[in-house]
Amino acid sequence: MPSAAANPALTYAPGERVAILLPLPLGGAYDYRVGERPLAAGDFVTVPLGRREAVGVVWGAAAGDVDSARLRSVLARLEAPPLPEASRRFIDWVAAYTLAPRGAVLKMAMSVPAALEPAAAIAACRLAAAPPDLKLTPARRRVLETAAGLPPLAAAELAREAGVGVAVVKGLLAAGALEPVALPRPPVFDRPRPDRRGVALSPAQGEAAAALAAAVGSGFSVMVIDGVTGSGKTEVYFEAVAEALAQGRQALVLLPEIALSAQWLGRFRHRFGCEPAVWHSELADGRRRDTWRAVASGEARVVVGARSALFLPFPELGLIVVDEEHDGAFKQEDRVCYHARDMAVVRARLGGIPAVLASATPSLETLANVRGGRYRLLHLPDRHAGAALPGIGLVDLRRHPPPRGFFLAPPLVAAVEETLAAGEQAMLFLNRRGYAPLTLCRGCGHRLQCPHCTAWLVEHRLAGRLVCHHCGHYIKLPPACPSCAAEDSFAACGPGVERIAEEAAHRFPAARIALMASDTVAGPHAAAEFVRRVADHEIDLLIGTQIVAKGYHFPMLTLVGVVDADLGLEGGDLRAGERTHQLLSQVAGRAGRAERPGRVLLQTFQPEHPVMRALVSGDRDAFVAAEAESRAAAGMPPYGRLAALVLSGPDPARLDSFARALARSAPRTEGVEVIGPAPAPMALLRGRHRRRFLVKARKNLNLQTWLRDWLSASPAPSGIRVQVDVDPYSFL
Ligand code: ADP
Ligand code: ZN
Repeated sequence: MPSAAANPALTYAPGERVAILLPLPLGGAYDYRVGERPLAAGDFVTVPLGRREAVGVVWGAAAGDVDSARLRSVLARLEAPPLPEASRRFIDWVAAYTLAPRGAVLKMAMSVPAALEPAAAIAACRLAAAPPDLKLTPARRRVLETAAGLPPLAAAELAREAGVGVAVVKGLLAAGALEPVALPRPPVFDRPRPDRRGVALSPAQGEAAAALAAAVGSGFSVMVIDGVTGSGKTEVYFEAVAEALAQGRQALVLLPEIALSAQWLGRFRHRFGCEPAVWHSELADGRRRDTWRAVASGEARVVVGARSALFLPFPELGLIVVDEEHDGAFKQEDRVCYHARDMAVVRARLGGIPAVLASATPSLETLANVRGGRYRLLHLPDRHAGAALPGIGLVDLRRHPPPRGFFLAPPLVAAVEETLAAGEQAMLFLNRRGYAPLTLCRGCGHRLQCPHCTAWLVEHRLAGRLVCHHCGHYIKLPPACPSCAAEDSFAACGPGVERIAEEAAHRFPAARIALMASDTVAGPHAAAEFVRRVADHEIDLLIGTQIVAKGYHFPMLTLVGVVDADLGLEGGDLRAGERTHQLLSQVAGRAGRAERPGRVLLQTFQPEHPVMRALVSGDRDAFVAAEAESRAAAGMPPYGRLAALVLSGPDPARLDSFARALARSAPRTEGVEVIGPAPAPMALLRGRHRRRFLVKARKNLNLQTWLRDWLSASPAPSGIRVQVDVDPYSFL
């Protein structure tokens, strides 16, 4: 850790020792000697590493445990802007909290190595003193005349302006009549304009917006916008973004499904006059590099991004918004396991700036923080412009079963027919991709399973394959059963969205039907086009997985049918009820968002389940209170602490013996309970066997220290991986 007191400016003179953090998955900081030029904390530098050269960041004072004879020198300092102090402290914090190596966290902040190279200048050409022996053709003359009247242009542009081929310009460059000049790159991102007028806010919206705006520039705080779907949360937090911009600060908005955010971008454009910088994993390489640089230089004023945007090097960040804060997509489960909502609050605290969390169904974690007085609640009670919340009804599948081989019960079919007859749109929601989740042999009952995972192969009929949703393994449907050799004996069991689309086409032959799932609508452009078609009413009946649940506003959509409302309740993990309630509330929120009232029908076998009752009665707070009470009684998050440990390896016997040894070495501490080892529900994943521990601890206990003590006493043998997940959300 750098010691600020000993070295207030955190600069390091030539010859001094300095710690350099390298973005290596297993590494920490290493000591080097400062070369001929002084360095400051945060500088990007190249250093020798073994026989290679690596790029790292000046992290602080050296640990001093390397013999000075073996100490190597920093090679060079890169021209890139230094990694800001808040980002560096954030990396330290995330690493300490998640138990990930600091190098692995730095790697997330240095995900675009090319961005550290200086931006290439644009090659342009301008008029030079004409060489005496220059042969002038009419085309050449036109180029020279054009160049004389214009600022330096790229060769292709100059050729276009002069109406000649680019070869003519190149010939003049070669002859010396034109000379090359380097132009600085124009900015990639426009500046959003906070002074443009937004929508006229209602009194309740205006009050919330004023509270948010007042918090910007007033240090660290966390505010929660709790408002039903369609209440204008986005318009309200836009005012906080505007305030940050007006104060000369950058703003970051995290969205759970950024690749599907065409409508959100449209509204941003409407409010601020241009697009923000967008950050997610599907950006093309050049765009990633430009965006990273523009954030670091301060050119990008607003970034809207997926969770990884938290690790961008903002020099002037003034606000972080987490929209749909309850969404599970904010949790990263591999490599560094972190929750972007929680880490956004940490980043805000380290930067001394406000964080805003928005949701129609805030997480129990967030509500507990509100109750504890740590977060401030802002309430938006009504839908904008008097639009009513949809009425939610249940279809009891025990009383109204669909006909054999079908999945839509008669009351839902009737409701869809009525909606379509009225010239309105309907949506059928099923959170399962593909055609059928299970394929079995009618003759012997054999089930088609993934050879590498504890999972059935899911039929994707449109793609003509059976696919493992965990590892991607796929096969064609075998002509005969591998177990009993019966031919043509396979039966599809249960529905996926493709099967619902097939049933809908049969039931509603006149309707224009479209299917939206992450594997049928690939990429942001296809998604945007899809959303446009729905919004323009080129589609009558929309069928989709959870990607249709996210934030869209379709004024003509008045009926939402949930094919299997019980789906998320299976498996019984800690948050199954909470999550199902959130997801179904969000899906329901797609209905009736404008003048026309909406309704929602949930098909269920458990109409008396607390989640179904809460959805029908609309009494979210009573449901949340009951959930909170049962979690508190069980000492579960957010009232107790939880960590998951997954051990994995190719050889089950070795894995089990290590798991037993680890169990024996667990420190016995009052207030800590170790559950396991047990085979994980996914006992096999991508060919690796998996065993898991759950560690449950009292809220006030330092779980990280306890885990570190435990794990450092029993290092994993080679081939066995130990994945630590503090605050786990997945229990597979
Ligand atoms: P939420 O984020 O709470 O679901 P949105 O901010 O998406 O709500 O608002 C829902 C719709 O209502 C959007 O189309 C939005 O532009 C519109 N809207 C919200 N508040 C206003 C307002 N005060 N004036 C005009 N339109 C508004
Ligand atoms: Zn698999």
